[in-house]
Amino acid sequence: MADKNNIELLKQKLFYKKESGWNTTEKIDEIYKYANEYIKFMNESKTEREIIKSSKKIAESNGFKDINQYESLKTGDKVYYINRDKSMYLAVIGKEDIQKGVNIIGAHADSPRLDLKPNPLYEDGELAYFKTHYYGGIKKYQWTTIPLSIHGVIVKKNGEKIEINIGEKEEDPIFTITDLLPHLAQDQMEKKLKNGIDGEDLNLLIGSIPYEENVPEAVKLNILNILNKKYGITEADFLSSELELVPAMKCRSMGFDESMVAGYAQDDKICVYTELTALVNLEDIPTRTAVCIISDKEEIGSMGNTGMESHVFDMFMSEILNKLGVNKPNLLDKVFCKSKMLSADVDAGFDPIYANVSDRMNAGYLGRGISLNKYTGARGKSGASDANAEFVAEVRNIFESNDVRYQIAELGKVDVGGGGTIAYILANKGVDVIDCGVPVLSMHSPYEVTSKFDLYEAYRGYKAFWK
Ligand code: MN
Ligand code: MN
Repeated sequence: MADKNNIELLKQKLFYKKESGWNTTEKIDEIYKYANEYIKFMNESKTEREIIKSSKKIAESNGFKDINQYESLKTGDKVYYINRDKSMYLAVIGKEDIQKGVNIIGAHADSPRLDLKPNPLYEDGELAYFKTHYYGGIKKYQWTTIPLSIHGVIVKKNGEKIEINIGEKEEDPIFTITDLLPHLAQDQMEKKLKNGIDGEDLNLLIGSIPYEENVPEAVKLNILNILNKKYGITEADFLSSELELVPAMKCRSMGFDESMVAGYAQDDKICVYTELTALVNLEDIPTRTAVCIISDKEEIGSMGNTGMESHVFDMFMSEILNKLGVNKPNLLDKVFCKSKMLSADVDAGFDPIYANVSDRMNAGYLGRGISLNKYTGARGKSGASDANAEFVAEVRNIFESNDVRYQIAELGKVDVGGGGTIAYILANKGVDVIDCGVPVLSMHSPYEVTSKFDLYEAYRGYKAFWK
């Protein structure tokens, strides 16, 4: 019989150990410093348009130029393309012939929120409101009684674009959606949670002073008068606007040990930030061309001309092939078939309070590093893009040889629910894709939680993949 020592040794050799990365990391200072920069980025970029603006600034200050500025491309060139201010593609031309494929990392810039309806403004009970239409999967009750800010654009008939950002600065007013007092909520409290707040009741309270006494709709008139003075708009200009309500809370460091980050829209801006900073901080020209995607409309199915389903990304890739002087019929399809991708999207973190929805053995844990999902989907993997084992092995190898902490997880228990990312869209083109992002608690809520350790490992992992 083997003695106790031998059994321990054998266990060490054969068991797959899963543990927090905090105790073994020697990079605590770097992690905290990187997290501070991330928090700053988050507080300046709450919507897809703002993300693209911030990302453009980061890219340009690191030598990236609009691809349209290049007649031809060569190894080491850094390019980007912005699609309608809402999505963006970047690339660093690698040393190897691009016909052997590229390495793509792709995240999305849009997050669940409340959009204003096209005809939003009304008055009731001497109070003025904006009607909203929620965007993405939200739990509606979470969006009442919190401070909200308004971000977006109003485009006048003549094309003049007015940028709105109100509720973020200390001196700005904020807005909120009211909820019923408990004293009178007997009926509401009997409802199912999903029906507790009706979609049509998510109306934003925006004002209460009448323009003049005894005038019908005097509060609405007063609001329009204020908006007209401030932005030069009339009520009809809302028809051509995109105004988004997002939590006015700041992204902050969290916990006594400051190990976590709490903030709105970390799905999926945490992956945007980590991929983008990984790309611009590559020390050397990568072997394979590094391609970075910041997509839009992921939360509502990736449709439309700024979503990943659109062909604008193919156009960007074709432009690269054209400007490298190698393009020929069918080449893009072949390049895709030889390409590899990390679909950088957040994963559901294991939440001990709601442990019953997760399989502890196959859950993503905060603090254990970047989290891979071999597949997503629902029920019998329906709708999943299932990464090939050969590619999973390759990614494991890249992470392990670069000392990147990672875990491989499922979203939740079998048959409990499901989800999806942009992974399948690139996989459909022939790319080898695996989902790979940061575990999040309270996903899609106004205040999501992540671990700074995972944040930093995502950055290191993405860098290793491109290197
Ligand atoms: Mn996401
Ligand atoms: Mn999401």
